[in-house]
Amino acid sequence: MVVVFMANSSKTKYIFVVGGVMSGIGKGVTVASTARILKDYGFRVSAVKIDPYLNVDAGTMNPTEHGEVFVTEDGLECDQDIGNYERFIGDNILRDNYMTSGTVYKAVIDRERNLNYGGKCVQVIPHITDEVERRLLNVGRKNKADFVLVEIGGTVGEYENLLFLETGRIMKLKMPDQIMFMLVSYFPIPEMVGEMKTKPTQHAVRAMNSAGIQPDIIIARSSQPLDDIRKQKVSIFCNVSAQNVISAPDISSIYEIPVNFEKDHLGSRIMEKFNLKPKEKNSRSWNNFVKKVKSSSKTVRIGIVGKYFGTGDFTLADSYISVIEAIKHAAWSLNLKPEIVWLNSESYEKNPKQLEELKDLNGIIVPGGFGKRGVEGKIMAINYVRKNNIPFLGLCYGLQLAVVEFARNVCGMADAHTTEVDPKTTKPVITTMPDQLVNIKEKRMGGSMRLGAYKCKLNLNFQSSKLYGVNLISERHRHRYEVNNAFRPVLEKKGLVVAGINPERNLVEIIEWSHNKFFVATQFHPELKSRPLDPHPLFRGFIKAAAK
Ligand code: GLN
Repeated sequence: MVVVFMANSSKTKYIFVVGGVMSGIGKGVTVASTARILKDYGFRVSAVKIDPYLNVDAGTMNPTEHGEVFVTEDGLECDQDIGNYERFIGDNILRDNYMTSGTVYKAVIDRERNLNYGGKCVQVIPHITDEVERRLLNVGRKNKADFVLVEIGGTVGEYENLLFLETGRIMKLKMPDQIMFMLVSYFPIPEMVGEMKTKPTQHAVRAMNSAGIQPDIIIARSSQPLDDIRKQKVSIFCNVSAQNVISAPDISSIYEIPVNFEKDHLGSRIMEKFNLKPKEKNSRSWNNFVKKVKSSSKTVRIGIVGKYFGTGDFTLADSYISVIEAIKHAAWSLNLKPEIVWLNSESYEKNPKQLEELKDLNGIIVPGGFGKRGVEGKIMAINYVRKNNIPFLGLCYGLQLAVVEFARNVCGMADAHTTEVDPKTTKPVITTMPDQLVNIKEKRMGGSMRLGAYKCKLNLNFQSSKLYGVNLISERHRHRYEVNNAFRPVLEKKGLVVAGINPERNLVEIIEWSHNKFFVATQFHPELKSRPLDPHPLFRGFIKAAAK
């Protein structure tokens, strides 16, 4: 076996973040929060997510199983954690910052097929680990980053993520003063015992050790902060100094996590590890934002009409995380406390009387979606809010179904539909462009939608352009279907406003119905670009109208 040592001249520091004990304890927000702290110290920060599964990207996965599919500016369908990184850091994260085992293996196998390994035997080690390392070094270089945080999906001890831990181990061997490891672990407080238990974390550290890695810092997730006795115990048993055990108790808003981490001096601990000093301390805007989150008291109730009702509220919150966060950002910026209500579109199909519940809400969102299930219920909900002048924001499928509703009920085209649901409709008001038809026919479904940032030219006379305050914008997309231009004259004649157009291909990007307080729908996903310190203008406009 030949181990190739790669030259590394840059001094980017890499912080590998791994999970212990169990998943779902907030590794992603830990990475995002740590990145925020380092950014506020004046460093250039980037963050990478590694998912150990074999899918080449997240686009082919069901949101009920894996949560929302996030989309980067450059059109990669990836894990929702990238969304958290963007929201906390405030910068765009691009496709290079996401990889799966599938991506990595595919790159190596493609290279082998092209004879690029010069006749060598291609092996998991070093060729796969080299490829992971190459990608990580590339992120540091491209972003001119002082720090790259690397989140390894899954939990230590799992077979799937071993190769990525191995890459971390090898990188530490090659550049010891540039690498550190952080373990995010869970400390249960079993009811029958009534005290916090450290044993599961001790085992997690053992599992890391057997991969040749020692954590430098342990982030202790629990319902409560760790007391000094526990910190000492973790220190002795896990071979970490007590001050490097950072409490991460449950809190009501994830945005408070950086503030909480700093109470235990996480930033200073990282500085000490790398022998660095903060270039500045600039956490004022974040801290002020967190104060605002806590002080907002007047409630605004927003309903989300969806279908991903697989396993209750958790699934929903995960499937629509960017929408939820965008609502929150906008509400807080207006000193309002957001309350989100889940509305099951299928229940309207079974019992139309239930639509009356929409009256109790301040505003309704019909978010993105795919396929047939629950579609008629969504159309019924759009019809109801349009007729009853309830503020409405439609996102992607939300726009498409609003067009269907309008075509059916205002333009008298009873058969109007999207060809996604009814390929034989005589009034295909929503349909595919010819290039997408080829993808569907040839079953080229992965990574082949209209993805990532596209320009949109705004029609100056309408609400959306007033909210944006400019006439050319760029927003992110993820869809295969579009408004059918053949039907635009009829729709517009009946009063549907086309308020934004993609200039290159003349595609409808925003529609409005000017008779209502707020009735705006977008073909793109504005929620993907909302940031806590920079709420999205359309969401702000929507929430403002809802609160009136
Ligand atoms: N299913 C629709 C399409 O593919 C909408 C997708 C979405 O809402 N993201 O065009």
